[in-house]
Amino acid sequence: MFKNLCNTFLPLFLISIIFAGCSVKKEIPPNILFIMSDDHAEQAISCYGSKLINTPNIDRIANEGIRFTNSFVTNSICGPSRAVLLTGKYSHLNGFRDNRDLFDSSQTTFPKLLQKAGYETHVIGKWHLRSTPTGFDNWKILKGQGQYYNPLFLENGKENIRTGYTTDIITDLTIEALENRSKEKPFCMLIHHKAPHRNWMPNAKYFEEFENIEFPLPETFYDEYKTREKTAGHADMRIDDMYLSFDLKLHKNYYDKETGTGGNAKFASKVELNWLAIYNRMNAEQKKLWDGHYNKINEEFKKANLKGNKLLEWKYQQYMKDYLRCILSVDESIGRILNYLDENGLAKNTIVVYTSDQGFYLGEHGWYDKRFMYEESHSMPLVIRYPKQIPSGQVSDLMALNLDFAPTFLDFANVTIPNDVQGNSLRNILENNKTDNWRKSVYYHYYEYPHGWHKVKKHCGVRTEDHKLIHFYDDDIWELYDLKKDPNELKNIYTDPSYADINNDLKNELSRLQKEYKDSSF
Ligand code: CA
Repeated sequence: MFKNLCNTFLPLFLISIIFAGCSVKKEIPPNILFIMSDDHAEQAISCYGSKLINTPNIDRIANEGIRFTNSFVTNSICGPSRAVLLTGKYSHLNGFRDNRDLFDSSQTTFPKLLQKAGYETHVIGKWHLRSTPTGFDNWKILKGQGQYYNPLFLENGKENIRTGYTTDIITDLTIEALENRSKEKPFCMLIHHKAPHRNWMPNAKYFEEFENIEFPLPETFYDEYKTREKTAGHADMRIDDMYLSFDLKLHKNYYDKETGTGGNAKFASKVELNWLAIYNRMNAEQKKLWDGHYNKINEEFKKANLKGNKLLEWKYQQYMKDYLRCILSVDESIGRILNYLDENGLAKNTIVVYTSDQGFYLGEHGWYDKRFMYEESHSMPLVIRYPKQIPSGQVSDLMALNLDFAPTFLDFANVTIPNDVQGNSLRNILENNKTDNWRKSVYYHYYEYPHGWHKVKKHCGVRTEDHKLIHFYDDDIWELYDLKKDPNELKNIYTDPSYADINNDLKNELSRLQKEYKDSSF
């Protein structure tokens, strides 16, 4: 008994003594509850000014804490973003550059360090790093990309198919883990939603939402990629090219033939079979609800016989409705978790973060998907609440990165941040609004080309408050944007002589950042 008590209390006791400067004051380390969705754009969050959707629970975190208006990822794609989160290091150092890589799970991560310091650590939901999670007392992850209905989980090493809607299941597992946690330890819980990742399959309870709404087209919907023909114009991620089956949920007897490549010509050849397999994951009860909604859409689509821009705009409306319905489940999940914290006296001492593994295109530039260093996918939403130490109602325009999560959590837990972590702790900004010596530029590097999806060429770049310089280095193509004059990034002004000095400064800054982060373009 005494030994057990020592095992649970000793690490916390030591933390308290060491970090209270050997005084008798005992600091209680905060709990960390990190909620990350997949591909959730700021354009679809009401506290970020969205007119498309109301997200009251995400907004609640922002209102009771802080919202970042300039938060970015370092490599805008699923697996790499997760590797940056865990390690606090850029992709070239953590080794996970694109989705084909395997995460080296022997490397140091912040959950491992928190576990060592006495935290109980959990990860629930999407993992997508291919290797087995390490540093977690409890891991229940979706296998691969995961499915929206009746998903296959890997639960502490064992496969388990769970019946239901994935966002709800992840929420149930989170509450179960909170309920069963050790009450003597602080917890660190990573909750990683699959939603709203492609192919955007909503929960039946939200099928009727947005039903009669016609969403306005984004300003750049009909972008022709002038001055960016070989980069933006080369990408294969136009809504025009979405699959009628997999993306838009039409059955093959309701259209003549599949359209476009959907971002991957190899997948296109078997997309209808893939969609059928996904549809058939649903049980009879789920299919009944699904068909009750989508059969009507299939019939109307066939009858309308749409062509050209009318067909394209129909695809956009369908895409938006399903994407936003998936987000309604995410917001509902956050509300349930926040309520649990309230009801169990955990709200005050728990840091709650909501973010996404990157942004997404909701029709801007005619696109869906991510990858580019352009604003919509470079940005990630970031709201943080910690009532005990973070004043409410703050909005910060300082540049935060997903690189900063690991050092921030370690800092709050009073655990030493390893020297090779490349991000910076946000703690001083969050608690004291101290902004001295904070970064004035951010560095970006994307790698997944020519393999994989969507044909976005490799690029690196630098963004400052006012400008962005991007180098598509395999083709030696440069792009420069004036973010104040051209926030939609429609005009590449790299060759404009009036920007020669700015170009030069940004190139120097790009070199400086590459040196600092030990990266190169090749
Ligand atoms: Ca993602």
